[in-house]
Amino acid sequence: MSPRSRVVTWSPSVTVVPTRGCFNACSYCSFRQAIGAADWLSDQQASAELSARPAAFEVLLLSGEVDPAAPDRLAWFSRLRALSLLALQHGRLPHTNAGPLRRGEMATLARLNPSMGLMLEGLGPAYELAHRRAPSKTLASRLGQLEQAGRLGIPFTTGLLIGLGETLQQRLEALELLALLQRQWGHLQEVILQPWRPGGSAEQATPLSAAETSDMLLTIAEARQILPPEVHLQLPPNLWPPSQLIAALEAGIDDLGGIDLTDVINPCWPQPSPAQLAEQLERAGWQLRPRLCVHDGWFAGLPAALRARALALRQNLQAAFESGLLASGL
Ligand code: SF4
Repeated sequence: MSPRSRVVTWSPSVTVVPTRGCFNACSYCSFRQAIGAADWLSDQQASAELSARPAAFEVLLLSGEVDPAAPDRLAWFSRLRALSLLALQHGRLPHTNAGPLRRGEMATLARLNPSMGLMLEGLGPAYELAHRRAPSKTLASRLGQLEQAGRLGIPFTTGLLIGLGETLQQRLEALELLALLQRQWGHLQEVILQPWRPGGSAEQATPLSAAETSDMLLTIAEARQILPPEVHLQLPPNLWPPSQLIAALEAGIDDLGGIDLTDVINPCWPQPSPAQLAEQLERAGWQLRPRLCVHDGWFAGLPAALRARALALRQNLQAAFESGLLASGL
C-alpha cells in the first residue's frame, strides 16, 4: 500500500505476557523480571484476559526469554505453543514475539501464528553497550532469525529501536539490511520505527523533543525510500507527539501497529483510543482502517488452515469496524 493512499491501518490487539522472566538484561528494559522470580501465565488466566477483550482480534504473545540451553526451555516453549492454540480457540489470531527461536520451534509456532515478530533494534556501539548482558541480542543472532523466518515463509514484523545513541548512518545501514532481507525472502510485512522512551515510571515519561521529533521524521522518510514499497512502516502512536502524527504519515508511516488499552512495555505512555485517532486523521483527510496481525498482502502464503481463519476473521473485523465495536479498543 502506498502512503499516498491516505489510509492508515491498525490492529485491534491485546497483549498477553507468558512470562516476564528473561535471561537477558538489556540496559533499557523496564519489563523484565529475573528468571525464577517471574510467574508463568496459565491457560485460565489467559482465557480471562481474552474474554475481557472481545474486540481484540490480535493476541500479541510478548514474552521474556529462556536460555536455549536451560532445562526449562521446553516448558517455556510449550507455554508459547499452548497460548497460541488458546488464542485460536478464542477466535483470535496469535502473533508471537518471544526472542530468538530454534528452527523447529519457529516452524511449530508458524503453524499456529499467521505472523510473528522480532525487533532488529539496531547496529553499532550503542546497541552493543545496551545488550552487553543480553546474550541473545547479538546482531548476528537477530539477522539469523530474520533470515530463518524468511526461509520458513513467515509473515514477519521487525523494526528499529531509535534513540539509544546511534548515528543516522547506522540507522540507514540497519534499514539497508532489512531491505536486503526483504528482497531475498519477501516476508517482512512491516518495519516498526520505535522511538526509545524510558517507560518504567511516570516521572521518566518525557515526550520527544522538537529536535528528536524532526530527527525521527527524517528517519521515517529515509526508511520509506530504502525499504521496498510493500513493507508497511509502523509508528507506535502513544510514543509520538499527537501534534506531529500527520507529519509522520506524510513522511511515510502507514500503520499504527497493534493498539491495546495499555502498552505493557511502556506503561506510562497511554494509548490513544482508535476513536480518537480516527477523528484526528479524518480532520486531516486520512482514514483509519483495521487490519489483522497478518497484513492482507501476506495471506496467500499462509498455511491453508490459517489462511481460511484469516479470511473469515477479516470479514468479522470489517463488520465490527462498521458497527463501531472497535472504537473503544475493548
Ligand atoms: S530481551 Fe526483552 S524482556 Fe529481556 S531484558 Fe531485553 S528487552 Fe527486556
